[in-house]
Amino acid sequence: MNTAKNVPELFGSMVFNETVMQERLPKDVYRKLKKTMREGTAIDADVAAVVATAMKDWALSKGATHYTHWFQPLTGVTAEKHDSFISPTDNGGVMMEFSGKELIKGEPDASSFPSGGLRATFEARGYTAWDPTSYAFVKDGSLYIPTAFCSYTGQILDKKTPLLRSMEAVSNQACRVLKLFGKNVRRVTATVGPEQEYFLIDRDDYAKRKDLIFTGRTLFGAKPPKGQEMEDHYFGSIRPRVAAFMQELDEELWKLGIFSKTKHNEVAPCQHEMAPVFTSVNIASDHNQLTMEVMKRVAQKHHFICLLHEKPFEGINGSGKHNNWSMSTDEGENLLDPGKNPSENLQFLLFLTAVIKAVDEYQDLLRISVASAGNDHRLGANEAPPAIVSMFIGEELQGILDAIEAGEDYTGRGKTKMDLGVSVLPDITKDATDRNRTSPFAFTGNKFEFRMLGSAINIACPNIMINTMVAEELRQFADELEGAADFKAALLSLIKREVAAHKRIIFNGNGYDDAWVAEAERRGLHNLKSTADALPHYTDKANVELFTRHNVYTREEMESREEALLEEYYKTLHIEALTMSDMVREEILPACIGYEKDLADAVKMKKEAGVSGGMEAGLLGRISALIEELYNQCSVLDKAVADAPKGDSRETVNYYHDVILAAMDKVRTAADQLETLVGKKYWPFPTYSDILFYV
Ligand code: ADP
Ligand code: MG
Repeated sequence: MNTAKNVPELFGSMVFNETVMQERLPKDVYRKLKKTMREGTAIDADVAAVVATAMKDWALSKGATHYTHWFQPLTGVTAEKHDSFISPTDNGGVMMEFSGKELIKGEPDASSFPSGGLRATFEARGYTAWDPTSYAFVKDGSLYIPTAFCSYTGQILDKKTPLLRSMEAVSNQACRVLKLFGKNVRRVTATVGPEQEYFLIDRDDYAKRKDLIFTGRTLFGAKPPKGQEMEDHYFGSIRPRVAAFMQELDEELWKLGIFSKTKHNEVAPCQHEMAPVFTSVNIASDHNQLTMEVMKRVAQKHHFICLLHEKPFEGINGSGKHNNWSMSTDEGENLLDPGKNPSENLQFLLFLTAVIKAVDEYQDLLRISVASAGNDHRLGANEAPPAIVSMFIGEELQGILDAIEAGEDYTGRGKTKMDLGVSVLPDITKDATDRNRTSPFAFTGNKFEFRMLGSAINIACPNIMINTMVAEELRQFADELEGAADFKAALLSLIKREVAAHKRIIFNGNGYDDAWVAEAERRGLHNLKSTADALPHYTDKANVELFTRHNVYTREEMESREEALLEEYYKTLHIEALTMSDMVREEILPACIGYEKDLADAVKMKKEAGVSGGMEAGLLGRISALIEELYNQCSVLDKAVADAPKGDSRETVNYYHDVILAAMDKVRTAADQLETLVGKKYWPFPTYSDILFYV
């Protein structure tokens, strides 16, 4: 492979970006489009027409023949419907055309996308609307135009629209607050860098496992002799086959203008991570959706399958996504940067206080924003933050907040030098915060890292929550401070009051510790263990008030989203239960019976030959009993699935959580025991040892 590629030249080569726009658009059109992108103003028809033609000509030069409005329905993956640029001419030929109208608005049939009951099937019409703040790009012979998706009646059916609305909300309120500090800022942008974890396994192994194919995770699998206990995979050297995949992934992502930056092996065998450089959350979200798709496609080329499920293997770490979040002004000032003297940086302290108050007041929303059947296997296990939402702010900030609360001067050390005791290493200035890997919402120097996200999630959801709840706190602060006679005094007393009221959410200790669960309960924090516990809080009064006040969702849109999430949960478990039963009846039982028969033959032959020793008979007895158990538990599961309620979604979700999951556990236990006893050549599909240690 050619490793000396010119990366700057490659980067963004398939994107209709700044450079291309400057080259191909008349100056005034370019200026108007930039204004829209910067300030979120509406775009007018004649500008769109010029942009459309320029986009089409550029796309044709990149080999595109089609265009598609690219949108993010509630399924969590992206959707696209391709139209070619062709338009018949009088002489029976075609020319390539693309109008401003086609750029701005599309009309895909919306009836087959989940809407949580918002849109009756007969009202099939749905609209997609161009989002000029995210660049169009060419992929697989099509021009992709990022769009928002809504119903005929204007209700939103996607994840991008509320994200854009939430960005608007937090921008408006942050600008108000900045004005109090004498800063005239036009727009504040929420920024995100999402770190993406994933597994790579061999395609042949994958093809032999129905559970991976249908559900994305293994429903069976005994613990292999070696797991991740040696901790030899984390940051380990990257195997050549994986390295080749990573190199091609980087190149493909760079072409699409995605800032793929960091790559390394993760804790679990076969697990890896990619982290991009942060950008505006809207673009970060589009890019993350694209990244997941490109990962899957490039993996196939290298005879791998990329697993993005949150927990593909039991007993082995699952995959998450770390959502690094901050806000920055159009001048590039990071509002969560404490600067050299955080104790004197009142603006920073005010924004910090807003985030603290937001996380405390909307813990449930943060939990809901990452709730899914797959992520339930991770949260609270010994690898991911607990299901309890709390924040880590580190020693120094804690000291500052304590001092403010006590009304004392902060006498911190300021920045301390760390002596590493090794003279060749330069002194590194200790960060304002140490790392806390166990905290769900950790301050990491100049941003917060929300660590509860599962690897498969669309990051729009959690960021809609974070943006909106922070917007609300900033709104309250601005309301209070705008009228203050003595700004500084009012500001200090506000911070003091809010820190005292919300400090229960701050926990700088070990979040994996059982003692924390008890302590969190004493503090009155939510512990919404499962998706079934969390989702019903979506439409709690305070949450509806929050989203409607900031025009992010209407009440109906929230109800429909809760409904869609509930449906997704029980449908996922339903498919898992059916797959499990199918694998037991069609594969595991016949395999075990085959082994049982050979054992029985051996016992019989031994007896006939007059050989003593009852080992085979003993093993036969154990296996026979386990087969019986597996068969019975599978029947219990089948009956439980048949008896599932079919009306109210909340009831169905509880049933699947309480009854179906428990029945699935019992089936798995019996099957996994059999796997360890039945001869290898009999077992019908690759085991954990086969899959996870193939090189
Ligand atoms: P670690 O794995 O140690 O947490 P990484 O370097 O892998 O750190 O990832 C940190 C992520 O945080 C990167 O995606 C980075 O771009 C992002 N980030 C840095 N600064 C900001 C910021 N101001 N806003 C949002 N994300 C940021
Ligand atoms: Mg990380």
